[in-house]
Amino acid sequence: MDNSLYDTIIVGSGISGMTAGIILAKEGERALVVEQHSIAGGMTQTYSRKEKIFPTGVHRLGSLNPGQPLWYYFTYLGLMNKLDLVKLSNECFERIYFPSENYKIPIGHENYQHTLIESFPDQEKSISTYFSDLKHVISNIGMYDPSIIPGKDLSLQYTRPLKDYLQSIGISGRLESLLTANSPLYGLSSQECPLLTHFLVSDSYLNSSFRINELDTPFSDTLVDSFKSNGGKIYVNSRVKELIIKNKTVAGVILDSNERLLSKKVIFSGHPSLILDLSPPELFRPVFRNRLNQANTPGSFGVALKWAKNTCPLEKNDAYIYDSWDVNYQYARENILEDDPLGMVYLSALPDKDRPDKDRSNTSDQNFAVTALTGISSKESLLLKKYYKESKNNRYKTAKNKITQKILNHIKQVYPGIIDNIEVVDTYSPVTFQRYTLTKNGSSYGIKKTAQHFLEGMCSPATKIKNLFLTGQSIGFSGIHGSIVSSVNLCQLLFGKEYLTKKIVQKQ
Ligand SMILES: Cc1cc2nc3c(=O)[nH]c(=O)nc-3n(C[C@H](O)[C@H](O)[C@H](O)COP(=O)(O)OP(=O)(O)OC[C@H]3O[C@@H](n4cnc5c(N)ncnc54)[C@H](O)[C@@H]3O)c2cc1C
Repeated sequence: MDNSLYDTIIVGSGISGMTAGIILAKEGERALVVEQHSIAGGMTQTYSRKEKIFPTGVHRLGSLNPGQPLWYYFTYLGLMNKLDLVKLSNECFERIYFPSENYKIPIGHENYQHTLIESFPDQEKSISTYFSDLKHVISNIGMYDPSIIPGKDLSLQYTRPLKDYLQSIGISGRLESLLTANSPLYGLSSQECPLLTHFLVSDSYLNSSFRINELDTPFSDTLVDSFKSNGGKIYVNSRVKELIIKNKTVAGVILDSNERLLSKKVIFSGHPSLILDLSPPELFRPVFRNRLNQANTPGSFGVALKWAKNTCPLEKNDAYIYDSWDVNYQYARENILEDDPLGMVYLSALPDKDRPDKDRSNTSDQNFAVTALTGISSKESLLLKKYYKESKNNRYKTAKNKITQKILNHIKQVYPGIIDNIEVVDTYSPVTFQRYTLTKNGSSYGIKKTAQHFLEGMCSPATKIKNLFLTGQSIGFSGIHGSIVSSVNLCQLLFGKEYLTKKIVQKQ
């Protein structure tokens, strides 16, 4: 029994929980992270199958060159000098396949602009407007790039639907499909996606794109090291089942083991709807409860592959394979467990560097660890969950096999030789994500922030319970960058905006 009083208990050890933990520990607080799973890291974790390491929720990171937005945060959090980052190709960091064409997307806004103009010369003016708007929007948004402090944060002015915006500047048809083909990175159709979300994600990867060499420098371990080296403490296998609340003020947490841990503040970083089960129902008003129970983004189905290095086209770039020009089809699909086509498959490989200083006798083979992902709607997630509950080895397994086969057939359209050069070593569904991170229906990016309901989708980090705070991908924007910003935003409430921003940007 640990009866000591912590300054802050942080529930959840994903990127948002660890970011909050590192900031608090750096500020001299006694910070404790409690994680329900046996391994820390949430979606930053990797796992191993057949001597290969596979990522779960981090395939690629953007904007990590010195002076770029995420670089500031990673440097401040003590990650930059510990992670071995592998750059994707400047000429093509993403390859986008449509039925009759494929496009190589280069790093750099100007390079991409020129590539687009070459392919769509009749829309040159619209393309130039798109890139100048992107630049303008990014320079007027607070926190995405901590070194930019706009006179007034104009985020809320750019929440109109992406599709409306593109059409208003004369972009439609195949160019519209190409520009919005990266939508799986935020899980929203162009009718629902706020322009701001699309610009933030596109900007980040166009600045620079990297993969983590997880073999030598696992991301989750790096986060834990940084937290511990600043004095933080972490418990795994410690599920919080109840918040201790007295006089509408949080005073700690009770674990599944009935252990009571006391603290002055609690930060909850899991899916926010989960806090409703941790506290008496009367504490949160129906409006707030509804907000936390809003629609979520789709989940993901993943196939982990060993792909012969000499035939694998993914060493320096990711790929999206679309089976039609309708990029939004994947969000309107009825049911892939029946006969519906998938719409899209995303492919990414982990770097497998032959570093002479490392003994790779066990891990080095002639294959890349490749992940193939497709989106899963909440209706499909619920069906998979039902099958899993009925019988893990029967209907659920059959459904997983069916989706896996569809994914392989989908990839075969572009890489016909794949079947002779790969081995399927694992598959997972939103049920798996829910089991490991408790995230509602295994949603990939948590609560939807649509153009139509943007403000309702954004939750405040402060709650009605004194000293109980929320962070994580559902609170602000999703992705590693978005989740870090949500925790920095919360810590700015605690320590002051100017003070913390200065620390993040200074000396770098
Ligand atoms: C398939 C997939 C691929 C992705 N690829 C990328 C990518 O390439 N780049 C990118 O930037 N983003 C990517 N993302 C998104 C990114 O992974 C997430 O936005 C981010 O990791 C979310 O972090 P988080 O801290 O909010 O949540 P999580 O990582 O889910 O952390 C929450 C933690 O809280 C714990 N928890 C919950 N309830 C309790 C409780 N009661 N007691 C104790 N612990 C609890 C959970 O176990 C979990 O560890 C991807 C996501 C998915 C699903």
